[in-house]
Amino acid sequence: SQGNEQFPGQVHDLPGGGILISSFNDLINWARSNSLWPLTFATSCCGIEMMSVASSKYDFSRFGFEVARATPRQADVIIIAGTIVNKMAPVLKRLYDQMADPKYVIAMGACAISGGPFFYNTYSVVKGADHVIPVDVYIPGCPPRPEALLHALITLQQKIKSGLTREQIRAEKPQS
Ligand code: SF4
Repeated sequence: SQGNEQFPGQVHDLPGGGILISSFNDLINWARSNSLWPLTFATSCCGIEMMSVASSKYDFSRFGFEVARATPRQADVIIIAGTIVNKMAPVLKRLYDQMADPKYVIAMGACAISGGPFFYNTYSVVKGADHVIPVDVYIPGCPPRPEALLHALITLQQKIKSGLTREQIRAEKPQS
């Protein structure tokens, strides 16, 4: 059955067409990983690359990410795409606090990772979004290409599906 393909060893066919699910947690993780709802949030140029993943060329709805929400209460992943200035930092924190649990954070681009080109001699830029909220996935680049964002989303999806908690995802070393 299709369930058997998605959960080898955990979904068993029963006589008469029924199925038996032997791990409810796997079912929850599978559903959660395939329904990440991003918050629409972009502050500068990286935002243009982020928006392009919704275009027909990249089509992130293939992976279940297309339900972008304008309210944090209906979102569970935030993609920080762009520069975070000091005045924006409390707003970012408030949006993060209002997101539904379990929630995930992606820092897209050099600015979101470290302040990027504004790292030196800038009084107004936060030197990394992780000074404000915990970040689960970092995407290097200035800007990263849309393929890199898709790769990050799919990697996050796989980690959620495998049952890792946020703490375990953050503790993992990046893959080379
Ligand atoms: Fe713009 Fe580069 Fe900063 Fe992205 S990392 S917001 S492209 S300056």
